[in-house]
Amino acid sequence: HHPHRSTVWVGPPGHQVPIGPDTFTFLAGPCAVETAAQTLEAAQMAASAGATILRGGAFKPRTSPYAFQGLGVRGLEILADVRQATGLPVVTEVVDARDVAVVAEHADMLQVGTRNMANFGLLQAVGDAGKPVLLKRGMTATIEEWLMAAEYVAQRGNLDIVLCERGIRTFEPATRNTLDISAVPVVQATSHLPVITDPSHAAGRKDLVVPLSRASIAAGADGVIVDVHPDPETALCDGPQALLGTDLRELASAVRRLPPVL
Ligand code: PEP
Repeated sequence: HHPHRSTVWVGPPGHQVPIGPDTFTFLAGPCAVETAAQTLEAAQMAASAGATILRGGAFKPRTSPYAFQGLGVRGLEILADVRQATGLPVVTEVVDARDVAVVAEHADMLQVGTRNMANFGLLQAVGDAGKPVLLKRGMTATIEEWLMAAEYVAQRGNLDIVLCERGIRTFEPATRNTLDISAVPVVQATSHLPVITDPSHAAGRKDLVVPLSRASIAAGADGVIVDVHPDPETALCDGPQALLGTDLRELASAVRRLPPVL
């Protein structure tokens, strides 16, 4: 029932970063927090490319239980230290309702990932946490289901929700998932909430991250969130989609060339 599109502010008072219709927000960082040095280096790469919010997973929802699951609370502590060092507000994923309090203690924004979009208990718990929420679209969810998931957060009195289109499962195997670019204008026509895209997790390949970011900008997204890593070859999680060097500079220039908001 909001007549205007909303802006969500992320970060501590005095250092808040907006995500919404009057700006374009660039969020970047490592897929997973691995070490303090790797996270700091990734954050510095992100900041020098123009990112204003740091992403990084401490609790990793991996398809295989044998894959790196994240550093947990130690990862949150690293993120908090890197926030202190760089001034970048932090968004990180929470995968279990029991961890919401500790994640909220260390992060500025709580991410609910694609695999948990319909975990209603978790949505209610993040709704109660008093921090902005980044709600990814379930990889098999319709836009209606995604918006209803956002209602579970909103119903707890938290309207600081940013939606993130991160690709859906289709029959096409050339990419990990298919970035549903139409979701951006469809959501903006239906909901007041900001909507960003995650080309890294959609494509699973770094060569597609810049083109899909450009497409997101053209479609009117309120931001993009991308993976960067100082040494993708050794990354413990999703190295093939992480940007560095030339690609990151190309993305930075695409973001900088955005027309000013009228
Ligand atoms: C992530 O952003 O770290 C992540 C796991 O994304 P998704 O939930 O979209 O797969």
